Amino acid sequence: MGFAVTTSYRAAGTPYPEDAPASQALFDRAKGIVPGGVNSPVRAFRAVGGVPRFMTHGEGPWMVDADGRRYVDLVCSWGPLIHGQAHPAIIAAVQAAAAHGTSFGTPTRGEVELAEEIVRRTPVEQVRLVNSGTEATMTAIRLARGYTGRSKIVKFAGCYHGHVDALLAAAGSGVATLGLPDSPGVTGAAASETIVLPYNDVAAVEAVFAEQDDIAAIITEAAAGNMGVIAPRDGYNRRLAEIAHANGALLIVDEVMTGFRVSAGGWAGLEPVDADLFTYGKVMGGGLPAAAFGGRTEIMSRLAPAGPVYQAGTLSGNPLACAAGLASLRLADEAVYKRLDEVASTVGTLASDALAAAGVPHRLSSAGNMFSIFFTDAEVVDYDSAKGQDATAFKAFFHAMLSRGVYLPPSAYESWFVSTALDDAAMETIEAALPAAARAAAAAGSDT
Ligand code: PLP
Repeated sequence: MGFAVTTSYRAAGTPYPEDAPASQALFDRAKGIVPGGVNSPVRAFRAVGGVPRFMTHGEGPWMVDADGRRYVDLVCSWGPLIHGQAHPAIIAAVQAAAAHGTSFGTPTRGEVELAEEIVRRTPVEQVRLVNSGTEATMTAIRLARGYTGRSKIVKFAGCYHGHVDALLAAAGSGVATLGLPDSPGVTGAAASETIVLPYNDVAAVEAVFAEQDDIAAIITEAAAGNMGVIAPRDGYNRRLAEIAHANGALLIVDEVMTGFRVSAGGWAGLEPVDADLFTYGKVMGGGLPAAAFGGRTEIMSRLAPAGPVYQAGTLSGNPLACAAGLASLRLADEAVYKRLDEVASTVGTLASDALAAAGVPHRLSSAGNMFSIFFTDAEVVDYDSAKGQDATAFKAFFHAMLSRGVYLPPSAYESWFVSTALDDAAMETIEAALPAAARAAAAAGSDT
C-alpha cells in the first residue's frame, strides 16, 4: 500500500528487540509539546511502563508501528473497529463522503440515515448525534436534570462515562489506570451532586433512594468495561430501572462501549431494559468521531430547538463520521456478531488456558464479546474486588505479548476488544505469544 516504513515482521512467537527507536523518538518529540506525550492518558503506557508504540497504519487484524513492527490488534481503537483496521467498505465510504465536502454545518442525508439505523437497532425513539461519548453522557445528564428538575446523579465506582466533571468521581479507565482518586479541577459543587455507589449492589441503591429525594438519574455502564470487564448481575440493570422509576428519577444506560459491539442492538439487545436514555459512541462512528444519546420522544423533545435544554456542536453529525458509522453498522449483520462472539471466546480461552498452565492465578471475566483478565483468584464483582488484582503480573504479561506482536490494552483495567478480521495468521501469533507471556506473568507475580 506504499507506506513509508521499513517493515520488520517476525515469525509468530519470535520477540522483537526490546527498544523501539522510532516510537521512542516520536514520544520524545511529543513529550515536549503535548502533556505526557499523548492525547489520551492510557496511551502513555504509564501503568505498564516502556515506550508507547506510535502506529503508522493498520490492515485487518494488524497495526504497524513507526519501527515497522506489526501487532495483532486486541484494542481496536478502544472498541470502535469491530471489522478490523482499514476495512475497505468503510474507507471507500469515507473517501466518497470527503469528495463531496468535509463539513457543511447544515443538516445532511447521512445524519438522517445514521439516526434511522440507530433507532432501528435500539430501544430509542429519538437520537441526537454528537462527537464523543463524553459529550453524549454529559448531555444525557443535563437532559435528565432538565426533565426531572432535580440535581443529583447516582453513578457506580469503577464505571467510566468520559471526562464529564460530575462523573469523574471514582471513575474507571484512565482514572483507574493512573490510580487517581478523582481529578483536581472538578469543583466541590460538581462532585457534591454525584453519589457514588458500589457496582452490582442493589441494596446500596435502594438505601440511597430511601434517604434522598433530589436524584435526577442513575447512570450505569450497560456492562462495566472500564475497571476491566464486569457483567451486571442477573436482573441488575432492570432493577435499577424499577428503583429509579419508583422514585421519579431516570435511568441512563451508557452503551458507548457495548453499543453495536455486543449485539446489533448493544447490551439492550442481549438484556432488554426499560431505561429512559441511552448513550452510544465508538462502533457507531466506524473509527471516526461520532457518538449519540437517545431515548423516548417525550424526554428527547425537551432538547433545543424542540425544547429548552441546550445542546449544540459545530461538527455534530459530521458527514465523514456519519459515512464511516453507517458503513460500519451496515456491515454489522448477525453473522458479524456471531463471529465476534466466537473470536472473543477463543482468544479469552487461549489466554486463560496459557495462564492456568503457567500457574498464574487469574479470572477470565466477560460481558458478551468484551472480556478482560483479572490477575487474582478472588471473585470480581465491583471496583474494590477489581483493584485486588496483581498489576505486576499484568505488566509482565503485557510486555511479553507486545514484544511477540500482540497489542493488548496497556492497563489491567481495560477491556480487550476483538474484530472479525482476526484470521488464522493473527490467531497463530496470539497462540505463539501466550506461553512465554504466561511464564513472564508467573515469574513477576511470584516476585511480589
Ligand atoms: N462511556 C463509556 C462507557 C466509555 O467507555 C467511554 C470511553 O471509553 C466514554 C463514555 C467516553 O467516550 P469518549 O472517549 O468518546 O469521550
